[in-house]
Amino acid sequence: MTIYNPDTCDCVIEYSDVAVDNDGDPKFVKVVNKCKEHSQLKDNACYKAVLSHNRSFNLKHGVEPTKEQVDSIVSDKKIEKARIKKL
Ligand SMILES: [Zn+2]
Repeated sequence: MTIYNPDTCDCVIEYSDVAVDNDGDPKFVKVVNKCKEHSQLKDNACYKAVLSHNRSFNLKHGVEPTKEQVDSIVSDKKIEKARIKKL
């Protein structure tokens, strides 16, 4: 499986490594973590919202992430956002 952490928000999304959707993109499996902005959305709607914000993939390949790894992705993103704000 493949973990996708968009540039535009703090969602963490899981994709299949093998299956593809109709567009040939990796097939969406589930939302591992929803950001504050997308917390009210169902998984599928959240996935579409994130994709529409961000078509450039930032994929991390690996095994099922632990809670700690998801937390670390989210906190890395917060640091990156804070850094960009100061530029
Ligand atoms: Zn989000």
